[in-house]
Amino acid sequence: MAKPKVATTSLAGCFGCHMSLLDIDDRILKLVELVDFDKSPIDDIKEFTGPVDIGLIEGGCCNEENVRVLTDFRKHCKILISVGDCAINGGIPAMRNNIPLKECFEEAYSESRLGPAVHNPTNQIPNDPELPLLLDRVYPCSEVVKIDYHLPGCPPPADTLWEALVALLTDKPVELPYELIKYD
Ligand code: SF4
Repeated sequence: MAKPKVATTSLAGCFGCHMSLLDIDDRILKLVELVDFDKSPIDDIKEFTGPVDIGLIEGGCCNEENVRVLTDFRKHCKILISVGDCAINGGIPAMRNNIPLKECFEEAYSESRLGPAVHNPTNQIPNDPELPLLLDRVYPCSEVVKIDYHLPGCPPPADTLWEALVALLTDKPVELPYELIKYD
């Protein structure tokens, strides 16, 4: 019988949530027995090969490419999970949400009091048409598509990810114990 498929992606995230998934240590062998990975940076498959059972999303949407990828995940994945605070509420990238986009660009590329944040001798703000357009603010995934589950944390602990995946893969309710979802 075909194994369930899992896909993962990182939108406006730092890959810390993916690192946490790999932190399940030797249980990764069990996971590989339970599922096949489809589109994911873990196996470097770039495009969906077909419908997928579970999609794990790291990061929120800061640009048009993030929206395209997230919409594609929603289209392909039966269950879609926001993994981590960036996917759930925008996280650290969303700190720019109260600052006009123009000021963010200027701070990064030209007019910062401390000098540009990146090496940019021409002071030109990047405008290559290949670059995905930034959105006016960083959007939580749930404001762009329907999300079925949220796993909070920065990142969610490996045990939280493992327990949630095992519950879903064995058709059990995702009822995580308090210790796995408290962050005080
Ligand atoms: S929630 Fe934390 S670990 Fe996950 S992508 Fe955001 S900053 Fe990185």
